[in-house]
Amino acid sequence: MMGSRKVRNAALGFFPALVLILAPHAARAADGETAPARDPKQAVDEAYTAKIQKYTTAPYFTSPLVNYLPASKNVPTPEAVLGDVAGAPGVLPYAEDVYKYMRLLEKASPRVKVFSIGTTEEGREMIAVAVSSPENLKNLEENRARLAKLADPRTIKLDDDEADKLVAQALPVYYITGTIHSPETGAPTALMELAYRLAVDESPYIREIRDGMITLITPVVEVDGRDRMVDIYRWHLAHPKDFYPPLIYWGKYVAHDNNRDAMGVTLKLTENVLNTYVGWKAQVLHDLHESVPYLYDNTVGDGPYNAWVDPILTDEWQMIGARNVADMTKFSMPGVFTHGDFDTWSPGYLMFIAAMHNGISRLYETFGNGGADTTSRPAFSPPSIISTRTSGCSSRIFI
Ligand SMILES: [Zn+2]
Repeated sequence: MMGSRKVRNAALGFFPALVLILAPHAARAADGETAPARDPKQAVDEAYTAKIQKYTTAPYFTSPLVNYLPASKNVPTPEAVLGDVAGAPGVLPYAEDVYKYMRLLEKASPRVKVFSIGTTEEGREMIAVAVSSPENLKNLEENRARLAKLADPRTIKLDDDEADKLVAQALPVYYITGTIHSPETGAPTALMELAYRLAVDESPYIREIRDGMITLITPVVEVDGRDRMVDIYRWHLAHPKDFYPPLIYWGKYVAHDNNRDAMGVTLKLTENVLNTYVGWKAQVLHDLHESVPYLYDNTVGDGPYNAWVDPILTDEWQMIGARNVADMTKFSMPGVFTHGDFDTWSPGYLMFIAAMHNGISRLYETFGNGGADTTSRPAFSPPSIISTRTSGCSSRIFI
């Protein structure tokens, strides 16, 4: 048995590796890393935590990173908008509700800023939410200028010493994107809770992330499709005995293949994410998907690797993937894997915007269920018996 809480937990799985690799101010030798553990001096939101436990159907679906929610006196939890915790059964918010929460966070915390990054084909807004320390958020422009120099070393006359100085002063930007595929429904609420945790948690582990980098979050990439998905899910809740149709298109024009558009840039979502990634000079683009159990860090994929991808990047894919498997396995979370059949040649995937701009592309797959229901699913089902609605990305061919 598993429910949409699993998706929330998987979304947080990127932490172990990124602290090691991306946070120069927090980086330490491997044996001197800060272990994830809550700050005993910070109160826990007991009611929210009790619901996490209630909705998580087996203990191994959670980890010390997310099995509690730190309390805050003035920052609202996702419950303020959802009426329940992120990942609660039956709760699937429209994009505008997700944005409403992100803007509540921005109002309540100096650690959060919300940016409008464009509109969709149907005129819906897309956003990016930056979470970092107040000082880092105050100095975004200075930081962007440093990253821009590193991005184009001609501006520093290829001076290695100058580059080293800039690396020491600059903060990396880790850009996370959710729900490019509308039937893969868990990421927006997972990212609402992630933003809260990053803004509120005082544990040394989270503080290192907050002080040492800028986390940038686009909680809904395919906004038109998300709203259609919520429409049909709510119709389904109201008509549980009637046929529950899948989406025909997952956005205005395209179904699954909106994640083939990174070269052509024919869709507004690709254009807006590309401009955000390049404009912020981000180092990582990490796209969240749903299909297979339990957590597939599929960036490593399978050869042959695209010949125009820097070999350093393919090494980084493997390093980060292996680190994730090791760390999450240490948490006794089952089925975390990184080797699988995934095409690492095509540059059409959204995350390849990073791979083709000297950045790090990342992608997770985890179980999803096309709604917000607690369901029972086998760890493996032959593709023929998995419906489009419940499978999201197919495990063996499509991402
Ligand atoms: Zn997908």
